[in-house]
Amino acid sequence: MDNKIDIKSMSLSEVEEYFVSIGEKSFRSKQVFSWLHRGVRSFSEMTDISEKLRKALDENCYINAPVLLKKQVSQIDGTTKMLWQMIDGSAVESVLMKYEHGNTVCISTQVGCAMGCAFCASAIGGLVRNLTSGEILDQVLFTQLELGQKISNIVIMGIGEPLDNFDNLLRFLELVNHPLGMNIGARRISISTCGIVENIDKLADNKIQSTLTVSLHAPDDVTRTKLMPVNRTIGVDRLFEACGNFFRKTGRRVSYEYALIDEVNDTPYHAQLLSERLRNTGSHLNLIPLSEVPERPLRGSPPETIKSFAKMIQNNGINCTVRRSLGKDITASCGQLRGKHLSQLK
Ligand code: SAH
Repeated sequence: MDNKIDIKSMSLSEVEEYFVSIGEKSFRSKQVFSWLHRGVRSFSEMTDISEKLRKALDENCYINAPVLLKKQVSQIDGTTKMLWQMIDGSAVESVLMKYEHGNTVCISTQVGCAMGCAFCASAIGGLVRNLTSGEILDQVLFTQLELGQKISNIVIMGIGEPLDNFDNLLRFLELVNHPLGMNIGARRISISTCGIVENIDKLADNKIQSTLTVSLHAPDDVTRTKLMPVNRTIGVDRLFEACGNFFRKTGRRVSYEYALIDEVNDTPYHAQLLSERLRNTGSHLNLIPLSEVPERPLRGSPPETIKSFAKMIQNNGINCTVRRSLGKDITASCGQLRGKHLSQLK
């Protein structure tokens, strides 16, 4: 943006510092920060700020605000998928899910993804770029404005690998948590990762109180590496070590996601090994029916297999649920709407 400052990605103390550097009173930064976190699209909307300061801000900074390109509402369960256009034209997806305990938004952290998981629609075009912390925040903010109701929970399970955009993720957590902003606490946020262990270690060291969700999908290296290239250098042992460490340091239990794929990771051998891995970890396992991606050859396990797989795990004393998938009629799984949008542009 012509060397202008992305002011919405700044923490309050950074805005304060910036204001001092341009000779402004630092308390003004609180007003501006709060306007930004209410979703204004221009400095002219900041009505209690002097004309002079608004002009200076407009000359030196820009406000990143997405445009809603498409909105699809599921007729089955009200799940709403939104496709946002970012300032550079990139398309980003978020999904709003209405639960009894509140409104949850599922957000993206990158445009595309570099991780290359074999079952995932987001991996198809590779990584285009990281989202800024302001762009990650905007998905929560503008979904709330669009809905007209408060968002209470966030799951970072949309497009991209959050721990591959780590600094912006941490900054986002700080922004969204701020009392002058959306004020959504870390405990109401789930971070889902394919398992970038160095950064799981950093989350643990920083005592981040969010829920850590690990996309496991296989309990052994042979199957997991086939499905998730990230496993090649990391391996399941190291992954479980990092998760154990996270639990010890933060006191927060880890959740695991496991999409059942026909004849790939759904055999009794996998169920047994998975049980051994999870025994006594206090963690929770979510079994998910694979959402089939037309471009991918993998098929979901039949319902009977899902049932018997879950039963084996539960009989082994592991805390496990089979997740219902929401928004089936609107291709609400990651990457599918963006994928469609991109192919329509071609
Ligand atoms: N990169 C992060 C977050 C994005 S993916 C991660 O890997 O966790 C969000 C979740 O959807 C992950 O658990 C991912 O493995 C899962 N997922 C991706 N494609 C899927 C599909 N076709 N069916 C079911 N789950 C899928």
